[in-house]
Amino acid sequence: MPELPEVEVCRQALDEFFAGREVVAVEISDIWAAQLGKAGIDFGRRAPLKAGADGSQGLVGRTVERVGRKGKFYWFELAPPSSPCESTISVVEGHLRMTGGWWLKPAGADWPQDERFANGFPDNYCHARILLDDGSEAVYRDVRRFGTLKLHTEEQHSQRLAVWGLDPLGTTWRFKRFLQAVSGSRRELKSLLLDQSRVAGLGNIYVSEICHLARIDPRRRSDTLGEDEWRRIFDATAPLLRESARVGGTRLTTLDDLTYIHEPQLHLDNFEVRLRVYRRDGERCMRRGCSGEIERAVQQNRSTFLCPMCQS
Ligand SMILES: [Zn+2]
Repeated sequence: MPELPEVEVCRQALDEFFAGREVVAVEISDIWAAQLGKAGIDFGRRAPLKAGADGSQGLVGRTVERVGRKGKFYWFELAPPSSPCESTISVVEGHLRMTGGWWLKPAGADWPQDERFANGFPDNYCHARILLDDGSEAVYRDVRRFGTLKLHTEEQHSQRLAVWGLDPLGTTWRFKRFLQAVSGSRRELKSLLLDQSRVAGLGNIYVSEICHLARIDPRRRSDTLGEDEWRRIFDATAPLLRESARVGGTRLTTLDDLTYIHEPQLHLDNFEVRLRVYRRDGERCMRRGCSGEIERAVQQNRSTFLCPMCQS
């Protein structure tokens, strides 16, 4: 599942691809439209409609200004229509969940033809197709279909931003703010760091990595950590996420994980090889001077990886 760096890589690609372009057509698969509809999301019904005179209808005719991100959510910001009203959609908010990903085809390019797509591309896992005014095309593909796209007004978007916690790559990432965000909890450290309303963007992989970098056992109760220990966690977090995003994020070995971004021009590295503890149980700890062996523990039914020698 993509975490902050992977979503940031996706955001950058989407921003470069969509910014300044007008949406010419939107197609949504029936199966995904129905599934979203059941969850109370009207994207499948509304998005393919033309932007109406009151600006309140669909996406067709709207121009994307930029693509933003907070935590694991990303969103397309739309330029205001000629006659905005109270119900005007200004944002399309997305979450990739388990297997969501975007495939981007510049005008004149071809979709991939390889063993992953025996029946051609787009295939049955592609659920949204967006045509842009320069002839380029974006396809949203999601094998397990847990991902979402939603249409929001400015007000709805502001309410969403307020729900999500501090983003470690955002402008409000300061130690004081971080301390406030993590205070007042007796939960295990890992569970606290996964709480998206406190710190937005961390998941199973990076929490293990951050706790190892900070030399703290993720099973510790949060209210037992001293300020120096929180400082070590704070200091480890942003550089780790920034470096991972810089090289293209962590992509694990299944093909599905490779589909969240398709940008043949970029020769992306994979942060997986730089992970220090995640899925390295049984291996020697990479910390200089430590002779520990990485262990796998289970917290809330999910794997945690740590070195019992240097994390306490
Ligand atoms: Zn160690």
